[in-house]
Amino acid sequence: MSQALENLLQENRSFPPSDEFTAQANAKPGVHDEAAEDYLAFWKKQAMDRVTWFKEPTMVLDDSNPPFYKWFQDGELNVSYNCLDRHLEAHGDQVAYHWVGEPGDTRTLTYSDLAGEVNKFANGLRSLGLNKGDRVAIYMGMIPELPIAMLACARLGLVHSVVFGGFSSDALSSRILDSDCRIVITQDGAWRGGNVVPLKDNTDEALKSTPGVTHAVVVKRTDHGVAMQDGRDVWWHDLVDGQSDECEPEVLNAEDPLYILYTSGTTGKPKGILHTQAGYLTGVSTTHSYVFDVKSDSDVYWCAADIGWVTGHSYIVYGPLANRTTGVMYEGAPNYPEFDRLWQIIDDYKVSIFYTAPTAIRAFMKWGDEHVDKHDLSTLRVIGTVGEPINPEAWMWYHEHIGHGTCPIVDTWWQTETGGIMLTPLPGVTATKPGSATTPFPGISADVVDEAGNSVPLGGGGFLVITQPWPSMARTIYGDDQRYLDVYWSRFPGKYFPGDGCKRDEDGYYWLLGRVDDIMLVSGHNISTTEVESALVSHPSVAEAAVVGRKDEVSGQAIAAFVTLRSSASGDESLINELRDHVAESIGPIAKPKSIVFTVDLPKTRSGKIMRRLLKDISENRQLGDVTTLANADIVAEIAEKSSTSSD
Ligand code: ATP
Ligand code: MG
Repeated sequence: MSQALENLLQENRSFPPSDEFTAQANAKPGVHDEAAEDYLAFWKKQAMDRVTWFKEPTMVLDDSNPPFYKWFQDGELNVSYNCLDRHLEAHGDQVAYHWVGEPGDTRTLTYSDLAGEVNKFANGLRSLGLNKGDRVAIYMGMIPELPIAMLACARLGLVHSVVFGGFSSDALSSRILDSDCRIVITQDGAWRGGNVVPLKDNTDEALKSTPGVTHAVVVKRTDHGVAMQDGRDVWWHDLVDGQSDECEPEVLNAEDPLYILYTSGTTGKPKGILHTQAGYLTGVSTTHSYVFDVKSDSDVYWCAADIGWVTGHSYIVYGPLANRTTGVMYEGAPNYPEFDRLWQIIDDYKVSIFYTAPTAIRAFMKWGDEHVDKHDLSTLRVIGTVGEPINPEAWMWYHEHIGHGTCPIVDTWWQTETGGIMLTPLPGVTATKPGSATTPFPGISADVVDEAGNSVPLGGGGFLVITQPWPSMARTIYGDDQRYLDVYWSRFPGKYFPGDGCKRDEDGYYWLLGRVDDIMLVSGHNISTTEVESALVSHPSVAEAAVVGRKDEVSGQAIAAFVTLRSSASGDESLINELRDHVAESIGPIAKPKSIVFTVDLPKTRSGKIMRRLLKDISENRQLGDVTTLANADIVAEIAEKSSTSSD
């Protein structure tokens, strides 16, 4: 039988932390071993040190009904209290968010400001007749009212379901229906690339099919004039007008639900992932502190994700605020009005920690170095990535151009379902390798297994699994325990199966290899998409690449590649041959793409992830699968056109 997954790509560069960094780091060498000795004791200590409890838990893990694990089950707390109130006495004047609007307007919210706004809005929500446990849909852009709305829900024990503001009315209504939301919080419009995204109009459309929604609360942001329906719609500013800026936090149980969030939909229909209170807060505050090395008193931290994704929930809102972080929040597009908007913000606010996605990094590379290199960026000291495997060449670009050759890079692997970071370097501990998410976070225990669930020896590839429960894990798929069991817990009994392929090198470092569903079977070899794509991206003409296994009479599957070139390169027949040879030389002839199509873009989710399943549908002339989370529909038609005319 063939190996679970071939190991083709070799990467020998390594970047150890400097002694100075290690000396001042939040997480010190030894922390992994200490946690491994007794992982429950490790998490209990984090929960006691980092959470302010109304009633301290006496229990750590309840594993009586796996995989429906419970953490700190008899504890009582309030997450918004932990993010706000407890900081106020000594640090009320500290900035919580430096907010930058896309048109150039700015707002500064201190912890006192934020607490006051949250309380007023919570009182407003209460006046709408909502009760603990009710679901609230939030469909907004990146304005301060978004975290304010989330924290107000958390304060009252309402369960928020944030729907990314780039989604259509259909995506909104299906998510509202799936979790039976009572109200929607939105805004008239959001700024994006100089245009107004008509969030209120989309909401109106969505609410035609959601009879359970009684109210829409609307923030005035673009002020472009929207229809307000009498009795249903209420302006945010009217709702908070005259409300007290004090609001008692609900005393909640550790396992009460905190939020529902739908996955990105890269592999199919999104799943409504449910997270609860205490374990989640413990997980995100611990990882945020250790992975980003955040110092409450001095750092300026910027996670440039959208709060509509889990990255924003955990690392713009809950983790950073629990850790009393000063953060930056930016409303708009990274290339508006110019390609250097992000770098300008880093210089303006002296940002010291920056977290973004490989898809963004590849876009920066595509746009050209000059936009970055004219900026100082010297205040940066830690930089991170999340969302997809990062190709080693993109990692090196990030290291050189953003991290000025010295910032530790934290490549963080995790998912909506895991709530917090799972595999990652610790910047004062781990020697990084470009393209590797390195090792499990302290207190997390992972493995790479074959089809039969047996551990694959170091040097080999297979399926990533998590072998012990962890506090910030999903509790279920909302309303569908059976699907939760089927998708994550049935393939390898007793182990959590995230759906990603992975290999480990001789040092025990983990290398994520893409989705298991996307693995290509070529002449009896299981080949990961990531390794072939990284080989393509290591060619100087290539900015981005996606590969899929297309049905082939000879080899079972043949590798079909879709390649976006850097702005300086032009795609012709000779480059196709050059790229095929380049892949064969760098990782082996078995991985040589049979066909290559040049395209200006690739089909991506609205969170920017490549949707290989659509490329596979195109390659095999099939009707496209679920496209509700697709961001750029035009490109699919264009690629389909090119694929049908390209020869092998
Ligand atoms: P769906 O589950 O609906 O298909 P999705 O998996 O894209 O959507 P997310 O939870 O946003 O939804 O993404 C998690 C996935 O992103 C991981 O399972 C993994 O495939 C990928 N990922 C995230 N971070 C990394 C990383 N650092 N390296 C490699 N892959 C990553
Ligand atoms: Mg997923």
